[in-house]
Amino acid sequence: MTNTPKSYGRKSISATLQPRDLMTPTPRLAGVWTAQIITLFPGAFPGVLGTSLTGRALDQGKWQLETIDLRDFGLTKHKNVDDTPAGGGAGMVLRADVVGPAIEQAIAKSPPNTPLLYLSPRGTPFTQETARRWSQGPGVILLCGRFEGVDQRVLDHYNIQEVSLGDFVLTGGEIAAQAMIDATIRLRPGVLGNAASTLEESHSNGLLEHPQYTRPPIWQGRHIPDVIMSGHHENIEKWRTEQSKSLTQQRRPDLWEKYTKR
Ligand code: SAH
Repeated sequence: MTNTPKSYGRKSISATLQPRDLMTPTPRLAGVWTAQIITLFPGAFPGVLGTSLTGRALDQGKWQLETIDLRDFGLTKHKNVDDTPAGGGAGMVLRADVVGPAIEQAIAKSPPNTPLLYLSPRGTPFTQETARRWSQGPGVILLCGRFEGVDQRVLDHYNIQEVSLGDFVLTGGEIAAQAMIDATIRLRPGVLGNAASTLEESHSNGLLEHPQYTRPPIWQGRHIPDVIMSGHHENIEKWRTEQSKSLTQQRRPDLWEKYTKR
């Protein structure tokens, strides 16, 4: 007997079943922002999304998460989901006739206009602007790849948009999905305690954020800058804006150029 649940997703069973969990195998709150994740590893969810502010918002029904286990769509008695690449080459490819029906199921359960996305290093880079756009829609359907990825025909057939977490290669889409959902959910109303903080932080206004300080005022001989301790709000604001600009200029010339040209 182990205390570790096999899955944190829709299949999780706990001693404190809520009535709505008993009514339907895929509890769905109407009109609530929903991430549907197609994955071979539903047990990886909610993962880090189940902690802190995103976890509390999940518990409160401010957003919801459903996993669709790709293995359930596997073929033959071995539930195969992948096969060797046509034309040869290393690794395995997720089969179109396995991924396709899983996508059909996700689409059938989603409101119209839900973006359908494949996590992929070949995709459009995910940015704060992507998070903002997704946060304003009904939710997302995210397809997590594994191995060498998925058969191209399934991407073409459903016109799936490819989205990348960055210019590196992960072993699967699950970590990318969690990162993107986290960035999106925190922009939903009521998820962060202090909504104003999403307007001022890095990437929201095209600049990186200024340095932050808290007590104690002196640590290891290092002082909090006088202006911050001055209580003069106008000067503090001015200092923060200058810091923000010079940090962006030094660290991210690409962002700085965009900022100065807009
Ligand atoms: N052969 C592929 C890489 C496959 S990596 C290629 O060269 O493009 C296995 C899976 O991890 C992918 O199908 C994708 O879902 C996920 N993945 C890897 N890197 C990623 C990234 N930078 N962003 C989002 N998903 C990624």
